[in-house]
Amino acid sequence: MEQSNFIRTIIKEDLETGKRDKVITRFPPEPNGYLHIGHAKSIIINFGLADDFNGKTHLRFDDTNPLKEDQEYVDAIKEDVKWLGYDWEELRFASNYFDEMYERAVLLIKKGKAYVDDLSQEEIREYRGTLTEPGKESPYRNRSVEENLDLFERMRNGEFENGSKVLRAKIDMSSPNLNLRDPVIYRISHATHHNTGDTWCIYPMYAFAHPLEDAIEDVTHSLCTTEFEDQRPLYNWIVEECEMESKPQQIEFGRLNITNTVMSKRKLKQLVDEKIVDGWDDPRMPTISGLRRKGFTPGAIREFVQETGVSKGSGAVDEAMLEHYVREDLKLTSPRTMGILRPLKVVITNYPEDQSELLDAENNPENEEMGTRKIPFSREIYVEQDDFMENPPKKYFRLFPDNEVRLKHAYFIKCNDVIKDEEGNVIELHCTYDIETKSGSGFTGRKVKGTLHWVDAKSAIPAEFRLYEPLVLDEQMAEDDSEEKDFLDHINPNSLEIVQGFIEPNMKDVKPHDKFQFFRHGYFNVDPKYSTSEKPVFNRIVSLKSSFKI
Ligand code: ATP
Ligand code: MG
Ligand code: MG
Repeated sequence: MEQSNFIRTIIKEDLETGKRDKVITRFPPEPNGYLHIGHAKSIIINFGLADDFNGKTHLRFDDTNPLKEDQEYVDAIKEDVKWLGYDWEELRFASNYFDEMYERAVLLIKKGKAYVDDLSQEEIREYRGTLTEPGKESPYRNRSVEENLDLFERMRNGEFENGSKVLRAKIDMSSPNLNLRDPVIYRISHATHHNTGDTWCIYPMYAFAHPLEDAIEDVTHSLCTTEFEDQRPLYNWIVEECEMESKPQQIEFGRLNITNTVMSKRKLKQLVDEKIVDGWDDPRMPTISGLRRKGFTPGAIREFVQETGVSKGSGAVDEAMLEHYVREDLKLTSPRTMGILRPLKVVITNYPEDQSELLDAENNPENEEMGTRKIPFSREIYVEQDDFMENPPKKYFRLFPDNEVRLKHAYFIKCNDVIKDEEGNVIELHCTYDIETKSGSGFTGRKVKGTLHWVDAKSAIPAEFRLYEPLVLDEQMAEDDSEEKDFLDHINPNSLEIVQGFIEPNMKDVKPHDKFQFFRHGYFNVDPKYSTSEKPVFNRIVSLKSSFKI
């Protein structure tokens, strides 16, 4: 990340003043879901800053909650980080530090800084008080060190039920910062962990585990999002009181949110579990795997995230900005081609029945290096249904009775007859072509206003096109993470439209993730999940037009 930002400034100063002699950052996902584009911001910041200062970055799985975590997520997260273009110096698992965390908790007990509490979760919440009301001390707060050591060991040995006891840090029940009112640091959970199996039945809470993980790994700058700002005093308390040698510094930056989407693993998981989408990699999801399947490129995602910048603020960014960057990225690299999404047959009645020809077409007018191809043309072609109107309004320049249009890379054709079925639906057009008007012939005899794309009917390959709209119709949804606002009420019923059409025959060997610009329709990616050798499926990445201006 080249731009300067407040975190870079802090790191630079730390190095210049000798406060630090190296930079170690970490990206610490919890393996309880797939990564989303918000995580991409964290990845880019952590790996980017370390890289700029010749430091290193750990990929650390923050796997302290056995109930929600799974190997599937570990694998997916690794794949996504790599795909974004980053590689970690070291792969770490927080669960590998369970022994040390336990020892540090025992140290706190010995120092009189932690106690075993028998209050229920509910009671602990009540006793905690509010911003305007001081908390109340638990009746178990003044247990002796010996009793606490004994109870904590027995918690570890599995003598107690889930929820019957917790270990709490003994800090200050009247602190104005609620996080310091004796936070819970260990809970009982008789659950099998994806890494440590049944070794443990007590697990550290995030607020306790995270600072220890950072310190154990000698992380210098622990970068997280602003919702952890209030936790910073607790973070520092834990590093201090647990007598960690290394003293990482927590620095917060603003979350990335995008309009018309939700961006929390909990909500994304709900969409998957309730089958509102077709898995974590559904192209409508803001997950890295969803964006990849839709056809977004790592470069476009990186450019986008960098452009949104690093600050404390976290307004929702317009999704159009992300689309802008993928268009920019694909403009010069993806071949242009023609595809018909909703076919209407056109018979060119003056073109000989047994004849066909190959026409020249450039692959990318903005990038000559991409060369040219030959496309077949014969008596029957397909055009788009909505490129014809029997009774057109003014300024409609496409096909209508007696009107002439240009076929891209081919000839002018004129519509003479409209063929209908019994119900009056238009099923075919009869046109004539003018051999003089061949594309590239230099013909200047007359002009037409409309240019249509088309495919040769005999040789075209059937294809499926999947067109997407935002999954959630609420601009502020991503920002409002509150429970009250049920995002399921805002799901867009038209977020996926599937249409069956045709593509040029020279596309018969397309492979998953090949990207094209279909003339007039936008950029598409070959879907890796549903494409078959007979019929490719194309996900529309983005249409051609943009309302977004940089
Ligand atoms: P979510 O809240 O979406 O469920 P999370 O914060 O619980 O995500 P973690 O796996 O804990 O997910 O996140 C790993 C890292 O990614 C954390 O450091 C977190 O702060 C960061 N991160 C998560 N969401 C965003 C976001 N929208 N913008 C920037 N960073 C994010
Ligand atoms: Mg988290
Ligand atoms: Mg979260």
